Amino acid sequence: MKFGTKVIHAGVKPDPFSGAVMTPIYQTTTYVQEAPGIHKGYEYARAQNPTRDALQANLAALENGTKAICYSSGLAAMDAVVRLLNPGEEVLSTNDLYGGSYRQLTKVHARYGVESKFVDMSNAKSIKKHITKKTKLIWVETPTNPMLNIVDIKAICKIAKEKNILVCVDNTFASPYLQNPINLGADIVLHSCTKYLGGHSDVVMGAVIVKEEALSEHFYFIQNAVGAIPGPQDCFLMLRGIKTLHLRVERACRNAKKVANFLKKHPKVNRVNYPGFKSHPNHKIAKKQMRFFGAMVSFDLKGDDFEKAKSIMTATDYFLLAESLGGVESLIGHPASMTHGSIPREERLKVGLTDSLIRLSIGVEDVNDLMEDLKKALATI
Ligand SMILES: *Cc1c(COP(=O)(O)O)cnc(C)c1O
Repeated sequence: MKFGTKVIHAGVKPDPFSGAVMTPIYQTTTYVQEAPGIHKGYEYARAQNPTRDALQANLAALENGTKAICYSSGLAAMDAVVRLLNPGEEVLSTNDLYGGSYRQLTKVHARYGVESKFVDMSNAKSIKKHITKKTKLIWVETPTNPMLNIVDIKAICKIAKEKNILVCVDNTFASPYLQNPINLGADIVLHSCTKYLGGHSDVVMGAVIVKEEALSEHFYFIQNAVGAIPGPQDCFLMLRGIKTLHLRVERACRNAKKVANFLKKHPKVNRVNYPGFKSHPNHKIAKKQMRFFGAMVSFDLKGDDFEKAKSIMTATDYFLLAESLGGVESLIGHPASMTHGSIPREERLKVGLTDSLIRLSIGVEDVNDLMEDLKKALATI
């Protein structure tokens, strides 16, 4: 089955009771048993739900994994992954990680004896020197937020395999349409389904997809034992959003390419971060491992003045000033004060996260309106 067919048909069958084409929302907490222990495989809704089953089967197919396990948010899914480690073991992670993931590793797991190291992964080979006997998990995020750096998934997985270390790739920014880490050697794929998979800015959810079925037992166990499950309504909305994933992401990527080129030529813009540019340091890797270059673009201003950046962000009509990404509507944001506010200024300047850096999540609107909107906003400074 090709991707555009999978999003619609994989794991989703007409309802056996009524023939309903759309998976029903099984809004129930419990299921009747014929005799104690004799049932149709459903006992209690924290452990099993048919709407959730359809979604999980669909997600497993999209990422070419054996199983997918859903959680109530992307960070709850991450928590389930890090729980694979025992106290004394270590996570090796990218140094420009999503802020919430960084907070969870340093403020939650560290308290229970699971330590993390944050390193530059833009050159895959350079991670070798950071691997120790304690390293049990390599955490990759690519493209990264908000600098849009690219990590070579295949090269990292090769190094990890030699040392028997698991690799988890946070594939949120790419979506399964652009990039499938399991095909490149990853053991686990993580999604904040809140972003491109849901795609309509109306559901918070997370998922883990595993390559080997054996690993899925841990994730089902955590799903039930810890209990951070998505509700059936949310699972339905996610299934509905996924049906147009390929159409939405393709359009957003085409729009992003035009917006990136428009910004690059603008006299008030300093630098544009976009993996689709030949000048991007890891453009060749992006081209190899991604179908398109994504729909996220960031840029800063000549003179690097925060007040000017603020003026732009409050002057757009279609780009809404908001956190998050991956929805049909375009969003604009200021990483230095919004998502990366807790990082000291000198630290963020080192990685190019300047005071005037603006991040765009490009949606599926008409691209001419989007460019006109940015042109108008840039004219206010
Ligand atoms: C949003 C996000 C998360 C966290 O997901 P939630 O659904 O908000 O919990 C993790 N990783 C990345 C890259 C994200 O963008």
